[in-house]
Order: sequence, then structure tokens, then C-alpha cells
Amino acid sequence: MSKPQTRAQWEARAAALQIRSQAFIDGKYVDAASGKTFDCISPIDGRVICAVAECEAEDVDRAVAVSRAAFNSGRWSETSPVHRKRTLIRFAQLIDQHGEELALLESLDMGKPVGDALVVDVAATVRCMNWTGEAIDKVYDQVAPTGHHELGLVTHEPLGVIAAIVPWNFPMLMAAWKLAPALAMGNSVILKPSEKSPLTAIRLAELAIEAGIPPGVFNVLPGFGKGAGEPLALHMDVDGLVFTGSTAIGKHLMQCAGRSNLKRAYMECGGKSPNIVFADAPDLDAAAKAAASGIFYNQGEVCTAASRLLVERSIKDEFMARVVEAGRQMQPRHPFEPGAPMGAMVDQVQMERVLGYIGQGSDEGAKLTLGGRRVLAETGGFYIEPTIFDDVLHTMTISREEIFGPVLSAIAFDSEEEALRIANDSPYGLAAGVWTQNLSRAHRVARKLRAGSVWVNYWDGGDMTAPFGGYKQSGNGRDKSLHAFSKYTETKATWINLSG
Ligand code: NAD
Repeated sequence: MSKPQTRAQWEARAAALQIRSQAFIDGKYVDAASGKTFDCISPIDGRVICAVAECEAEDVDRAVAVSRAAFNSGRWSETSPVHRKRTLIRFAQLIDQHGEELALLESLDMGKPVGDALVVDVAATVRCMNWTGEAIDKVYDQVAPTGHHELGLVTHEPLGVIAAIVPWNFPMLMAAWKLAPALAMGNSVILKPSEKSPLTAIRLAELAIEAGIPPGVFNVLPGFGKGAGEPLALHMDVDGLVFTGSTAIGKHLMQCAGRSNLKRAYMECGGKSPNIVFADAPDLDAAAKAAASGIFYNQGEVCTAASRLLVERSIKDEFMARVVEAGRQMQPRHPFEPGAPMGAMVDQVQMERVLGYIGQGSDEGAKLTLGGRRVLAETGGFYIEPTIFDDVLHTMTISREEIFGPVLSAIAFDSEEEALRIANDSPYGLAAGVWTQNLSRAHRVARKLRAGSVWVNYWDGGDMTAPFGGYKQSGNGRDKSLHAFSKYTETKATWINLSG
């Protein structure tokens, strides 16, 4: 079948989808033990897509028992790295082959443009599986530097049962960033997708089996945070808890780990990323377009969204006129329309939350220079215009809190020191950008920014080859690259007496 080119073709493809909506435990689709379901609503038009299994504590107990049994059996955990590599590469191929279906599910479920879902989410998920699979048979253990009387081996072993709890903004990709290194190391995984976007996770489980990952090694439990996430976080037989989501829930899950069995816990959380534009930026047009797409891409529902734009005062008015123009070009459209720059907000709750922040920005005295309203309401979907506030003070709520929507706050600064002070004055530290032609300043500022990723003269660079994660309350641990393996391994020292 050829790739759909028009909205009508995507709609026809969507109508023909056979959507999986049950939990996946021990290699089989099953209902929740209670028989409960919840409605999966498409933010594109507010319609119910399907009823999804609502897993709770009983399902968690079952999935943990199955995962533990699979781990103990060694049928995945004790296979050779080269076997796991080949299996993950097959998994990547299957995701690629089903790319249009997965992109469609992602778009229907969370409202992002289907074109972006295909070229970003699916492509990056395939790359993540491939890269991680390729890497796992090239990672060596160590021999300690000892005298001749003994041998010290430093080896890395899989943790055991991993619970992965993920958000709705890049549902499949965030899952892949956990799944790939966890599986590559030989762990069993229980994935709890967000209740707002469970469909691709449920489908992935079936593809994993087809790729050759044994039953019980990868299980998916759709459900709510309290009902399914919390029993996983508190479970005494889960060895590792990996999370991507809000800082508030991340903090709560660290407590759950402490209150239960001190499971290894790694949290990737929110952001309020500063994008600093100096007057000597190499190309103000490119910087303005990046400032706009950095906040409006994926409807602003991006952990690294460039939500705080810091502009040197001498160019601020001229620069902001360009940003407003670039933002105006990014109006939301139906996510199946080719080239739609933005789609729908994930649900009504998130839309209302973002509109609340917009109202607060105006009330606190920021100047609204673009957007600010809900649009396309007649579709039944949840769309918000690209929105820009100018003359924002760093004390205002819209400059301090993560909005997680298409809302930009622009702040003027007069010196490098002031820009750095504002940029770093945040509980978050996920990403930051700096635009300047001055090489010394670029290095100096990049070094002083307290953020896990810093981009110079562009926004949102990245690849599987480099780690991703946050400073401060943006999280601990790192996803992607060889660094990610450390979250899924125990380190063992084995000493052998050679003198006997
Ligand atoms: P969220 O914290 O509300 O939910 C994330 C996940 O946690 C969901 O699966 C949810 O069901 C679950 N959950 C909620 N309450 C729970 C509880 N009491 N116990 C266990 N699980 C619970 O976040 P969200 O709204 O889904 O996602 C948006 C957030 O994710 C933003 O803050 C964004 O910045 C962050 N994010 C961070 C990164 C990163 O890599 N740092 C990437 C993407 C998104």
C-alpha cells in the first residue's frame, strides 16, 4: 500500500485500523482482571476511539510475577548479547514496516500531526531500537588493576524486573528510550503508558513477540497513574523504576521507591528551557524561526520546549516581530492534513490548563502579541493558537511554571550575566540554547548553563549517540547513548584468589 498523501487517504486508513486495546501479559492480550475499561478519546475531534483495559493492582501483581518468572528462566536474560542485538534489530524493522499504522495511532490518540509522527516519532523509535541493539554486543566489562595474587572482575548484570512509566507527549519514543536499553541488557519490562495515549504501546507488545522477544519479557499495562502506576512503583518485586513525566509525579515515585524496596529509581521530568538570543546571533531570521518552532512544535507539548525566550534588549523589538511572524505561520490544523504545523492538544484537561496559563499571563501584565485562544472548536477537538507573550517579567507565573502548551514568554536582558542569571533561576535544568557569533561567549555561556542539553546556534539537536536528561528537578539519570545502560544494570565485583 502506498503512503497516504491527503487527509482523506489518512482518514480512510484510520477507518480501517484494527485497534488493540487490551493489556499484554505473558505474550497474550488480556482484559483487566476487574474487567474494567476506560474510554480512549481522540483529541482531534473528541470522539471515543475505543475502550482500553484499565489495569490495577491485581494486574500489576500478575505482570510482575510473569516478568520475574521470565527473568529467572533465563530465556532472555541469559541469552548472548549478539542474540539480543539481532532480536532488537528485528524489532526495529517491524516498527519501521508498521510505521504508518503506528504514526496513525499516535496521531489519533494524542493529536500530533501524522506527518510528524511518521518522520519524527516512528523514525526516532526505529533508530533507538537499532542503535541500542547494535551497541549491546560491543560493551565490555572490566578487569580491576590488581597484583598477581588475585583477579578482580567488574561485571554488569541486568537488574531484573523493570517498571517503565511514560507520558503522552511522545508516547512511543519515550517508551523506546526505556525499553531498548532495558531489553538489550536482558531485563524483563512492564510498560505503563499514559492513560491519555496507550495505543502504540499496546501495539508494540505484539511486534516484540513477532521479533522474537519471549513471552513474559515485555508486558504492557494500560491504566491510570494511581490505579496501575502506583502499585508498580510500590511493588516489592520490581527492581527498577524508570519514569518520564512531570516533576511532581517524579518526586512522588522516588518516595514510593524509598517506602517499598529501595528499587533503583530514575526520573526524567519537566522543563522550562531558556533560549538566549544575543544581538550578534549569526542569522536573526533562522533564530526567530527556531524560537517559534522550538515552542510550537508538537503543540508545545515537549519537555525541552523553548518556552522562555531571552532576547538582548537592543534587538528585542525587531527580533520579536520576526518571531511573531514565524509563529503566525504555525496555526493548528487537522493532524491528517499534509504539512500541518500543529495539531490538537492531548485532551480537554490539558487544553483548559494551558488556556488558564494564558489568562494568568494577561492578568499578571504580560503583553499578548499573538494568539491566545482556542480554535477549531466546531470540530469537537482541542486546538489552541500559537501564543506569544512579550514584556514578560521573570517573576511572572508564565515564566516560572511549565505550561506544556504553545505559549512563549519573551524576556529582555541587558548583559550576559543577567541572561545567565535569569536562565539558571529555575527549578528545572533540562535544556537551553544560546545564539551568538562570539566563540568565547558561546563556550562560556554553554558551560555556565545548568542544563543537561545545550544548543549553540540551533535548537533541539540530538541523536542516540549522546545522553539526554536533566539537571536539578528536571530529573536524574540519562536516556539514550551508552550512558542509558547504567540505569538497567547492577555492577558486580568478583574476586578470585589466584594464590591457592
Ligand atoms: P505525568 O507525570 O502526569 O504522567 C506521567 C506518567 O505517570 C503517566 O503514565 C501517568 O499515568 C503516570 N502517573 C501519574 N500519577 C501517578 C502516580 N501517582 N503513580 C504512578 N504513576 C503515575 O506527566 P504527563 O502529563 O504524562 O507528561 C508531561 C510531563 O512529562 C511534562 O512535565 C514533561 O516535561 C515531561 N516529560 C519529560 C521528558 C524528559 O525526558 N525529561 C520527556 C517527555 C515529557
